[in-house]
Amino acid sequence: MTETRRPTPRPEILAIAPYVGGASTIPGLSRIIKLSSNEGAFGAPPAAQKAIADGAEKMARYPDGSVQGLREAIGAHFGLDPARIVCGNGSDEVLSMLIQAYGGPGTEILMSQYGFSIYEIFGTLAGSTVRKAPETDMTADIDALLAAVTEKTTLVFLANPNNPTGTLVPMEALQRLRDGLPPHVLLVIDAAYAEYVERPDYDGGLSLVEAGENTVMSRTFSKIWGLGGARLGWCYGPAAIIDVLNRLRPPFNINATAAAAGIAALSEPGWEKMSRDHNTVARARVAAALTQAGIRVWPSEGNFVLADFGTADQARAADAALKAEGIIARMLVSYGLAHCLRITIGTDEECQMVIDSLVAFMARANTPATTDA
Ligand SMILES: *Cc1c(COP(=O)(O)O)cnc(C)c1O
Repeated sequence: MTETRRPTPRPEILAIAPYVGGASTIPGLSRIIKLSSNEGAFGAPPAAQKAIADGAEKMARYPDGSVQGLREAIGAHFGLDPARIVCGNGSDEVLSMLIQAYGGPGTEILMSQYGFSIYEIFGTLAGSTVRKAPETDMTADIDALLAAVTEKTTLVFLANPNNPTGTLVPMEALQRLRDGLPPHVLLVIDAAYAEYVERPDYDGGLSLVEAGENTVMSRTFSKIWGLGGARLGWCYGPAAIIDVLNRLRPPFNINATAAAAGIAALSEPGWEKMSRDHNTVARARVAAALTQAGIRVWPSEGNFVLADFGTADQARAADAALKAEGIIARMLVSYGLAHCLRITIGTDEECQMVIDSLVAFMARANTPATTDA
């Protein structure tokens, strides 16, 4: 046996780069407009804030490991069977559990080219091979996904709408994906932005979950519900898959305060509609103004836009211009989208600051440099 000088992790661990979230500070600036993580525009719902404050005195007690009250509240709000909901410490944990259960060495996980990076990170960690299918117009390409399926594929992840592109695969294409996948392949529809989608036929993937034994829909409290810091997500799936997740799930993965905050957020009158209505109007305004300024904006169904500056240099310069005014957008170098910035739709005031800053940036960029010294 060879002697090693220090503990050695599984090789998969060192094969991944640690996840880097959206930045939240700019050195030297105190007022920051953070538009880098797609957190809802209006902060945490007041009822959730109160629930979090009230939770302090109960902290000595272990939480309800099955989070029954939370699952019932989710079920009541979204019209779902609470017995077929599993909650996670963020939907990231739900995605991780699905990969632990259905991925692993010898399996392949399939995602699209600009799909959410967490699938690749967790998939690699689990020892799966992660394959990416090329996209068309920044949108998952169903034919390319189906063509990339092999006999080792056990999981397909599709964020719909996708982060960081914002694009949506229409329902009939989603159905075509499910129909084309072998029945033993688990399709995970990550609907983190479902509440923002305005298309009448969009159901987050629910009809596909209900139609068979092999599709799961994941959701989160981190975006429209304003609870990113509480770490709360969930999934809805067929009973057999829910049973597997409940065996795998850490016994107390949802802390008592997060559960209470989630229940309270769902009870906040008008929150979801108010947030969605604002997002739809503000997103259109930002997209129109940026387009007018000469920036390509990809169509988005989420609470963010993908602004395409054409080159990595331009995107970097635009990011610097925003930062100079305290605005943090998300650089996408790690996604292979160095020429783009992802910008969260904030309040009206924040959106106006983004517009003003980028309109001025484009005006400067389009002004020929003077040659006289
Ligand atoms: C934000 C996001 C998540 C993660 O949400 P958490 O519940 O905070 O872990 C999952 N999927 C997508 C596509 C996201 O954008």
